[in-house]
Amino acid sequence: MNYKISQRAAVLSPSLTLAIDSKAKQMKAEGQDVVGFGAGEPDFDTPQHIKDAAIKAINEGFTKYTPASGIPELRQAVADKFKRENGLTYKPSQVIISCGGKHSCYNVILATCQEGDEVIIPAPYWLSYPEMVKLASARPVIIETSDRTEFKITPDQLRAAITPRTRLFILNSPSNPTGSIYTPEEIKALGDICVEKGVLIMSDEIYEHLLYDGAVHKSVASFSAAHFEHTIIVHGFAKAWSMTGWRLGFCAAPEPIAKAIDAIQSHSTSNPTSFAQKGGVAALNGSQDHLPKWLAEFSKRRAYAFERLNGMPGVSCVNAKGAFYLFPNIAGTGLKSTEFCAKLLEQEKVAAVPGIAFGADDYIRLSYATSMANIEKGLDRIAKFCASLKR
Ligand SMILES: *Cc1c(COP(=O)(O)O)cnc(C)c1O
Repeated sequence: MNYKISQRAAVLSPSLTLAIDSKAKQMKAEGQDVVGFGAGEPDFDTPQHIKDAAIKAINEGFTKYTPASGIPELRQAVADKFKRENGLTYKPSQVIISCGGKHSCYNVILATCQEGDEVIIPAPYWLSYPEMVKLASARPVIIETSDRTEFKITPDQLRAAITPRTRLFILNSPSNPTGSIYTPEEIKALGDICVEKGVLIMSDEIYEHLLYDGAVHKSVASFSAAHFEHTIIVHGFAKAWSMTGWRLGFCAAPEPIAKAIDAIQSHSTSNPTSFAQKGGVAALNGSQDHLPKWLAEFSKRRAYAFERLNGMPGVSCVNAKGAFYLFPNIAGTGLKSTEFCAKLLEQEKVAAVPGIAFGADDYIRLSYATSMANIEKGLDRIAKFCASLKR
């Protein structure tokens, strides 16, 4: 039997982060002492009041279909969150609840992009963006950056990348994989160009609450009515509420785009899980007391890892002000990222994600969403590994 795979699926690259992760998990299952820096999720438990809300919903029989775009209560809670935290006025009808922030991104790209369109993506990028663009039959246009600019693009770079075919610019601050954040002034400057050129912005703000060193987040939608009209915000519950497995995210968009996403979703996934949505309401409307504790812990780990990495031969690292990742430059070790990570896992049993997965082959991604004890042990091993490579 000749199984003909669609062009659409055949052009996708398999997820490298998942590949390393599964190898590491397999080694662990065999009883090997693997230290994992691969996690793309907080190591903290979902706060209890959120779990309670979902359990209560199940026990009360809230286990049936809901409206495809989410329950009115949660769409309202999201609109309230944008008002309260970002000063943005969305109607609940402009908010679509989806099965994770990733699903929200996919919906946005599918609703706005088609064959012949170009989508501008700064590298290092979250690895799913270019693949989603390809799934929509559009073309990713990558803007390269490096640690010299803290992985940020300049307004000139954005302007130069825009063509008459440019449909969407993807902005992700704080960033996965680099942890980098744009200042409000930098965000505004990029937004200004998109407004001037009539380019839509998909602003992935899922790490909005994970900030260090007094950094502030300002949504690109918040600078003017024009910025607001050009922006679609993507967000979700995975990171700041540690709800990765719940599969719950949301976007807020201009009304016609929200309508299009509603149509797409109603014919594909239908509603996100009913009782998970009740958990989402509790997450947004309930106590946020867990967050300062998590941030204090992340901050300690980040400071320690930053210090250690910069003391390793062949390694240099800029300090990221957001998310829970560091993105050290390993060019000085003489290895590219795939070889570095494969050897590191083999020789020292440390799992990290090769930067090539994010379009940056001279770097690796280390997640500090793991215990301090693990971080100490893992960095000891990476230091030993780097020392062994030195000429
Ligand atoms: C984690 C993440 C998301 C969303 O993840 P979900 O688990 O689908 O909610 C979206 N964007 C970025 C950059 C992320 O790191």
